Amino acid sequence: MDCLFCKILEGTIPSTKVYEDELVYAFRDINPQAPVHVLIIPREHIASADGITPENSAVVARIFEIIPRIAASEGLSGGYRVITNCGEDGCQSVKHLHFHVLGGRRLTGQMG
Ligand code: AMP
Repeated sequence: MDCLFCKILEGTIPSTKVYEDELVYAFRDINPQAPVHVLIIPREHIASADGITPENSAVVARIFEIIPRIAASEGLSGGYRVITNCGEDGCQSVKHLHFHVLGGRRLTGQMG
């Protein structure tokens, strides 16, 4: 499958690992939008938030369990933002479900 994040998971494209376990992988965004910008992805290929089902949603719970640990280890004691872009109108550029964790400065109030 021609998926950039699957290639990162295989190790054929390099990444800077922040965290991994048997279900998820977290790494630094190549084009950070904040002092801390981490991407968290499921090892299973799920195309987007629109592809989350009762059968595969356990990994999403795992991701949200891991987020506070990553935030703590990245020093985000003042807070942070979690984003997933979905589909064309959501400006999703990589079609493998991922959650952006952004922080390290006061983020703008703009969401759209
Ligand atoms: P999105 O636009 O929500 O699909 O986010 C995709 C993100 O992947 C963007 O923030 C990109 O900067 C990031 N990205 C693209 N290629 C790489 C890469 N090789 N390593 C790390 N992050 C990447």
